[in-house]
Amino acid sequence: MTMVGLREGDVFQNMVNYGMFTGGLGFHYGAEKIGLTVIPSATGNTRRQIEMIQDFGVTAIHCTPSYAMHLAEVAEEMHADLPSLTTGLFGAEPWSDAMRGELEQKLGVTAFDSYGLSELFGPGVAFECPERHGLHIWHDCYFVEIINPDTGEVLGDGERGELVVTPLAKEAMPLLRYRTGDITMKLEDGCLCGRAQKISRITGRSDDMLVIRGINVFPSQIEHVLLRIPEVGNQFMVYVDRINHLDEMTIEVEINRSYFSGELQDLARIQKKVVKELRDTLELRTTVRLVEPGTLPRFEGKAKRVIDRRDQK
Ligand SMILES: [Zn+2]
Repeated sequence: MTMVGLREGDVFQNMVNYGMFTGGLGFHYGAEKIGLTVIPSATGNTRRQIEMIQDFGVTAIHCTPSYAMHLAEVAEEMHADLPSLTTGLFGAEPWSDAMRGELEQKLGVTAFDSYGLSELFGPGVAFECPERHGLHIWHDCYFVEIINPDTGEVLGDGERGELVVTPLAKEAMPLLRYRTGDITMKLEDGCLCGRAQKISRITGRSDDMLVIRGINVFPSQIEHVLLRIPEVGNQFMVYVDRINHLDEMTIEVEINRSYFSGELQDLARIQKKVVKELRDTLELRTTVRLVEPGTLPRFEGKAKRVIDRRDQK
């Protein structure tokens, strides 16, 4: 945050989940440490978030880029100007330079990409500097390698692969060559800001992990939940869409006839149960669509259960 120019006197609104998501307290403590005034607004109630930005004269915000887009649209609907804003820190999901341009124009901020993992101190593992051409990864804190995710071979600068990190300063939970699953590459040194060791912005995953509204979801977790519910089968399909800039996940699952009376209210009960069980495990609201037994595709080879229809424009 110091690197992007935030200083004592700045007012920082942290619009992410507090609790186990390290973007909450991680950014909060960091901001306090460098003397910012912190508004721990957390997530939800977008109109109120906008009122808080106005009331407190907020200069910097942190949230997921998709939520920032939603915020911009709600502000537009409210005819609310946000003249105090100068800086947007966005992370927890991949986003494009096109989206950066749109956010900057709509919110009047300079937007910076933030990268972090709960396993490695949380946010700020790597961050964009004012040049905004790649993220500086803290090479005094981490030993950084890029590998071919299939063979494990270590790749050179400019070669795209999976980021592998060995923290050098972490206590109590040491990690050796931790595979992040995130796809990036090392960039050549020589940033105009004078700092060293940059990686490119994250472009995807080496596994099947999905990032939904900043929360990590593995299809195997969904399978695990469905296996516990006798009223449904264990075949499923996941559809991910971006509606009004927010991620929406729909899960299709087959009903198990022997547990289904045929009554409409029974259908509603089962659907509610699946939604609740999924929410308890994934900590995520989903839409569940029950379908006839035998209608979902069966896979012989590697199952393709996820259809991600979000455009990463
Ligand atoms: Zn730099």
